[in-house]
Amino acid sequence: MEITFKGKRALVTGAGKGIGRATALALARLGAEVTAVTRTKSDLDDLLFECPSINPVCVDLSDWDATEDALRNVGPLDLLVNNAACAKLQPFLEVTPDQFDMSFSVNVKAALHVAQIAARGMKARGTGGSIVNVSSQASQCALKDHAVYCATKGALDMLTRVMALELGPHQIRVNSVNPTVVMTEMGKIGWSNPEKARSMTSRIPLGRFAEVEDVVNSILFLLSDKSAMTNGVMLPVDGGFLSC
Ligand code: NDP
Repeated sequence: MEITFKGKRALVTGAGKGIGRATALALARLGAEVTAVTRTKSDLDDLLFECPSINPVCVDLSDWDATEDALRNVGPLDLLVNNAACAKLQPFLEVTPDQFDMSFSVNVKAALHVAQIAARGMKARGTGGSIVNVSSQASQCALKDHAVYCATKGALDMLTRVMALELGPHQIRVNSVNPTVVMTEMGKIGWSNPEKARSMTSRIPLGRFAEVEDVVNSILFLLSDKSAMTNGVMLPVDGGFLSC
C-alpha cells in the first residue's frame, strides 16, 4: 500500500519531540508541505536542520490568543495532527487546580482550537480534509497517578466523535490514534522504572511497548485516502491492551 501526500498541506502540533517530530518528518518525506508547531525554539531549529522545507511555528498552545495569532497566516490546510500534550503524574488526592487547567488547556482546548482553525478553512474551500487527534489507551483504561491525563484523553476521544459527526458532512474526517506507552520523553516520565514497565508490558498481548514508528504509521493511514471511509474512530496502537 503506497501512501503519498503530494500537494497536501499538513500541520502537526507538538512537532518538537517524539511522535509529533517523527510525524512531521514522515509527512514531509511523503510529499506534504508541513507546518510544525511547538513551543521550544531549539527543537524547531533541530527539525529544520533535518528538513529545511518545514515551516516552523513557535507558540505555547495553552495560550488561545497567541495560538490564534501564530496560526493566522499558515494558509490553507488539508491535514491536521493534534499531537501536543503534557502529562504530569500526580496521585488523585494531590491533583492541583493549576495542573488540571494546564492539562486540559493543552490536551483538549488547544486541540479543539487548532482543529477549528483548520476545519474552518477546509469547509470554506469545500476541499475536505483529515484530522487525527493523538489520544491514548489512557482514555479508556484507568492508570494509577494519571487521573488528569486519563480525563483529558477521555475528553479528547469524545471531542473526536463529535467533530466527526459535525465535520463529516463537509468531507472532513476526524479520527484518533490511541497508543500504549511509547518510550519518548513523555513515556519515560511514567514508565522508566523496569518493574513498572513490566507491569504494563505483561498486560499487552504483544508483550512490548509501541515504537514511535508504530504510531506514526497509524497516523499516516488515518490521514491518507486509504482510510477514506473511516470517520470517528479511536484506533488503538496498543498491541491488544485495550481489547483484553
Ligand atoms: P513528548 O513529550 O515527547 O513530545 C510532546 C511535544 O509536544 C513536545 O514537542 C512538546 O514541546 C510539545 N508541547 C507540549 N505542550 C505544548 C504546548 N503547550 N505548546 C506547544 N507545544 C507543546 O510526547 P510524545 O511524543 O510521547 O507524545 C505525543 C502524543 O502522544 C501526546 O498527545 C501524548 O499524550 C500521546 N501519547 C504518548 C504516549 C507515550 O507513552 N509517550 C502514550 C500514548 C499517547 P516541549 O517539549 O517544548 O514542551
